[in-house]
Amino acid sequence: MSEDLARLGIEPGGVLLVHTSFARTGPIAGGPAGLIAALRAALGPDGTLVMPSMTDDDEHPFDPRRTPCLGMGVVADTFWRMPGVLRSDSPHAFAAIGPRAETILAPHPVDLPHGPDSPVGVVRDLDGQVLLLGAEQDGNTTIHLGEYLAGVRYRRPKSVTVVRDGRPAVVHYAEIDHCCARFALVDEWLDTANRQRRGRVGRAVARLMRSRDLVDVVVERLRADETAFLHPVGVDVECDEARASLGPARAEGA
Ligand SMILES: [Zn+2]
Repeated sequence: MSEDLARLGIEPGGVLLVHTSFARTGPIAGGPAGLIAALRAALGPDGTLVMPSMTDDDEHPFDPRRTPCLGMGVVADTFWRMPGVLRSDSPHAFAAIGPRAETILAPHPVDLPHGPDSPVGVVRDLDGQVLLLGAEQDGNTTIHLGEYLAGVRYRRPKSVTVVRDGRPAVVHYAEIDHCCARFALVDEWLDTANRQRRGRVGRAVARLMRSRDLVDVVVERLRADETAFLHPVGVDVECDEARASLGPARAEGA
């Protein structure tokens, strides 16, 4: 497994943000913890491993020591619980271990979860790599950073519950969001620009890219077509809502 990761181009001593599907990667000796150990071995002692660690629960305050991460797979939900792993204090949390972990996880804005000051923003600043391990582009959170930096105007109303002055408080905000199925386009964009490496890791198809390349490609494409990631009207509620936020003409798919 570590050989597969090294062959793919994981940089020892670097920063690596990993999105996984364990079902598509395994079986692996040691289970999810064994996979995490292989990723850490590929990075070496000077490398920093990062994973998504968010909650889907917007009704209860997020507690970085207790709240599970149920939506990102068993590897992500195993990772934050491991000794030495840090987790950002945000319902949109990421978790990390290694020399840059604290820098990556330091104050994570609730209302701009994937902006320049979020963990994905700092991973880009640190010239980190992004690995999709059996996971698809629709789960590649760094693409939202590209949307923000491209200046897309669509938003969806969201709320999360945080603790303020010792009490639960609901925070309403507008997030760059939609169904994310059309993030699949990014594969073609990266491949066309020769900015993505593919290989096998375990049983999984793996894709490796630099965060900066990913963001650059997304920004360029979205500046040419702001609604590239939004489905035509009537396919799903999320994309319809995002289109509607652009005003009547764009909401009709014009
Ligand atoms: Zn959609």
